[in-house]
Amino acid sequence: MSGFAGPPLDLRAHLEDHYSATGRPSVDPELMIRMLIVGYCYGIRSERRLCDEVHLNLAYRWFCRLGLDDTVPNHSTFSKNRHGRFRESETFRWLFDEVVRACMAAGLVKGEVFAVDASIVAAEASSKLAMPGNEPYVWQDPARCSRAVREYLEGLDDATLTETVPKRISLSDPQSRWTAAPGGPAFFAYSTNYLIDVAHGVILDVEATPAHRTAEVESTKTMVERVEERFDLIPQRLIGDTAYGTAPMLGWMVEEKGIALHVPVWDKTERKDGTFQREEFTWDAKANEYRCPAGKALRSQWRPFKKARTHITQAGTIIYLASQHDCSACSMKPRCCPNVPVRKITRSVHENARDVARRIRATEQYRQSRCERKKVEMLFAHLKRILKLDRLRLRGLSGVGDEFTLAAVVQNLRRLAKLACPPQPFGGQVAPAALKMG
Ligand code: SF4
Repeated sequence: MSGFAGPPLDLRAHLEDHYSATGRPSVDPELMIRMLIVGYCYGIRSERRLCDEVHLNLAYRWFCRLGLDDTVPNHSTFSKNRHGRFRESETFRWLFDEVVRACMAAGLVKGEVFAVDASIVAAEASSKLAMPGNEPYVWQDPARCSRAVREYLEGLDDATLTETVPKRISLSDPQSRWTAAPGGPAFFAYSTNYLIDVAHGVILDVEATPAHRTAEVESTKTMVERVEERFDLIPQRLIGDTAYGTAPMLGWMVEEKGIALHVPVWDKTERKDGTFQREEFTWDAKANEYRCPAGKALRSQWRPFKKARTHITQAGTIIYLASQHDCSACSMKPRCCPNVPVRKITRSVHENARDVARRIRATEQYRQSRCERKKVEMLFAHLKRILKLDRLRLRGLSGVGDEFTLAAVVQNLRRLAKLACPPQPFGGQVAPAALKMG
């Protein structure tokens, strides 16, 4: 398969090790990819229906390079190949990367400003076939379970102990997450996470996660590192919403990657009782202490310890306390800490990165970033309304990952066709540029 304007899409070479030279000839992988692109482009995700449509629709036949007499693969053969060879060989990920490279070759990726966001998509799991998350459940012998359940059981060993227990677990797709959009009913869902280049809205990476905020935020690190590794792209700015403004995320982006994170800082220290806000205390990095409005010190340690202590809590913070001697004699105490003996300030170990994000927030560029973030939201709207991916068909994280990756491939192809291929003269001589693959 040759590419659009970029490097050739050598699918057969990619799949070489997964096809035997002997036995019955397999379904042509290029034909399968073309059929899947048709399916995701026009919201036909049922394999049976897709095979029927390609059989009957001449335009689809043309795109799949099938003559009038050529046979369309049987839907069960199609399905077996899709979930077997293609998944083992990560063909969809490979295809996604090749399409991104084609977008880069067409000049649609600047690599300067990225935006990240997640969108919830309903899983193929009934809310009735579920059990409470805190109750033990005896699963069937893994060999007799569905693929989605097997994946879940295999993943249980790797799950971190700190992971929160979900309220309900689906018995048909246990990797999906019981979740609810604000004001709506709860349902089982996954999240699709996009990392886009805001210049032309090209999706640079996509990752499927259970619909859980921690997993969504963590996937950002995976995507940023993968884009750096595969495409050698590191953004100067990364735009996200409040969910991405946690202290560990800011610390990773600012201190480890040197990326300016344009996000609202996740801050729960605001006081609503009229007492002094945290900003009214001055940080002295050299002395490792805060100074209160009365000019007194707040320290993490008031006396030396035989064995040095870090004072870092499990939450990754250090607590700074005023001296009881100072506070008890202070005339400002009613406006500072009326109900406790001394004032306390909690400082994150990533506070320097949080301060960088706070300074960014006051800039004009940050206001521009707020507008640019809408581009990723528009892609999600397009995904659900035009590509009709508002409910998944496949179960298990790997199946869901395939669905999200294919949808992102199609969204990038549409963008490439719209922006990089000049309009063709009307007359039916030339096929729509979006469908020209070779
Ligand atoms: S109450 Fe304590 S911390 Fe608050 S202003 Fe007075 S001396 Fe400073």
